[in-house]
Amino acid sequence: MRVPMIAGNWKMNTTVNEATELVKTMRDELDKVSNVDKVVCPPFVSLAPVRELIKGSSIKLGAQNLYFAEKGAFTGEISPLMIADLCEFVIIGHSERRQYFNETGEVVNKKILAALNVGLKPILCIGERLEENEAGRTEEVVTEQLSSSLAGINDLNGLIIAYEPVWAIGTGRAATGVQANETISFIRRNISRLYNDKIAREMRILYGGSVTAANATEFMQQPEIDGALVGGASLKATEFLSIITQTSTIRGHFSHID
Ligand code: PEP
Repeated sequence: MRVPMIAGNWKMNTTVNEATELVKTMRDELDKVSNVDKVVCPPFVSLAPVRELIKGSSIKLGAQNLYFAEKGAFTGEISPLMIADLCEFVIIGHSERRQYFNETGEVVNKKILAALNVGLKPILCIGERLEENEAGRTEEVVTEQLSSSLAGINDLNGLIIAYEPVWAIGTGRAATGVQANETISFIRRNISRLYNDKIAREMRILYGGSVTAANATEFMQQPEIDGALVGGASLKATEFLSIITQTSTIRGHFSHID
């Protein structure tokens, strides 16, 4: 079975001091929750100090992005190896990067490959925009995003998918559990078509988009949803902890696959 995962995407929030304070507030309580992968993804500058604070705990670390080149004259960028030195996970293809930084399917594909090459587990974000949803094009959009992001990649090596409808991110307008479950089930069938049944069955597919302590149970009760990528609510210790505790209560009986 699949181990549920709750990952907090802090986006461009928190100074180093605020990031370390947030981790200190949550660390001991988070550490008590078992059978859920608990991941925090602070801004780059806080990765090293947060890593020090979570050493010896069950909390895992992820970055929010990387650049695909190995090294060299790319002022301001962060390489895959730099991230792999600190983290186990990296978010790739978040809709905010696609929207504000013009990340195309081709760029996302290069980043996924670069991450896998250094042993990082990518959290690949896909999802349709509002107008695409309203035009009934959700399945078409996620199918295209999957095939472009994963082109030429044979070994997925722990890759996780986050289905994040763009209209639900940061808006307070979450999808329903049933809607998210349907699309995630569709994504899993696509993974089976692109790879095979076993890979599809074992792949963790998260929902993301305005998940809070108030609606977490609705998502975790759905059989295809293996956890959540959480933005805003991951910056509030009690909210984040509550989402994780609810996940553990509902899904914690599932045994580990790794
Ligand atoms: C996200 O950043 O991936 C996200 C889902 O944000 P929020 O939970 O704030 O909608």
